[in-house]
Amino acid sequence: MFTLTFLGTSASVPSAERNHPALLVEAAGQRMLVDCGEGTQRQLLRSGAGFRRLDRILLTHGHLDHVLGIPGLFSTLRLRQSSDVMAIHGGAETLDIVIRMLAGIWGEGRAPIPVEFAALAEGRFIEAGEFTIDCFPVRHRDTDSFGFVFQSPARRHLLSDRLAALGVPDGPLRGELAQGRPVVIADQTIVPEHVLGPPSGGKKLVVIGDTETTDGLSKNVTDADMLVIEATFLDRDASTARDYGHLTATEAAAFAAANNVKQLVLVHVSGRYEDEEILAEAARIFPNTRIAADFDHIVI
Ligand SMILES: [Zn+2]
Ligand SMILES: [Zn+2]
Repeated sequence: MFTLTFLGTSASVPSAERNHPALLVEAAGQRMLVDCGEGTQRQLLRSGAGFRRLDRILLTHGHLDHVLGIPGLFSTLRLRQSSDVMAIHGGAETLDIVIRMLAGIWGEGRAPIPVEFAALAEGRFIEAGEFTIDCFPVRHRDTDSFGFVFQSPARRHLLSDRLAALGVPDGPLRGELAQGRPVVIADQTIVPEHVLGPPSGGKKLVVIGDTETTDGLSKNVTDADMLVIEATFLDRDASTARDYGHLTATEAAAFAAANNVKQLVLVHVSGRYEDEEILAEAARIFPNTRIAADFDHIVI
C-alpha cells in the first residue's frame, strides 16, 4: 500500500492554488519526498503530514522548481534538532546541483543536518521488505532525470476453509504455513501450496517528473496501478511543449492507455489552462484520469 500526498502540483511557476512540485509517498511506516520545490516545508505542515520520520528525498531532476525547497527544509530540521540522516537520491548531475546549492549557503561540503547523497543508476535502489523502489532514466532537456517505480509485493493469504479441512489449529502452525514452510500434524505433512490462495494485493506506482518524451519508458510503466506524470501543455501547444521539453495532456493519456495503466494522475500543471480543459483532453483518450490538486491524498 502506498499513500500519496500531493504537496505541490504546479509547473515551473506557482499559482495561488498550486505550489512548486513535491509529492510525499508513505509506505510501510517510511516517508519519502519525491522532489522538494520551494515552499515544500510549509506544504508539509499545511497538509498535516509534518516533518516526523522524513528521511529520504528522491529527486527527478535538478531544475530549480524541483529542488529549491531543500535548503529551507534542512534549516527547519536543524532547528528541530533532527539527528536523522537525510538521504538524497538523484542523478549525479542533479546531486551536484544540490551540493553546490548547499555549499553556497553553508560552505563547501557542509549542510545543517547530516546528509547522505546517493547517486542513482538504473535499477533497484531501495529494498525495504514491504516495498521496493527502482529508477529509470528519463529525457528532459539537458538534465540527468530519473523516474521511479514503487512496488509492494503481492501476498498469498491462508485459505481458512482449507486450514479447517486439514485440521490446522489457530496459532504458530498457521504462521509457519503463511511464511511458506511446511508443518506436520498427526504425522501428516501439510505444505503451504495446500492452504495458500492466489497472489493478491501487489501494487505498482510509477512517478515520472518532467519529461520531453515517453519513448522508451513503456517497460517501466506497464500494468501500473497508478501513473503520476507531468502534463504541462495542451495539444494545441504541442510545439511549445517540444521547445521546453515537456509533455501534453494528450501524450500523457496516450502513454497511460498504451501501457495498461489503471489510473492516471496528472501534475506539473501550467496556470495558463483551466483544469477542465486539461482533464477533458486527457480523459478523451484515457477516461480514468485525474488532475492532482495540492493536498490531494490518494491511497493505492
Ligand atoms: Zn518542472
Ligand atoms: Zn524540469
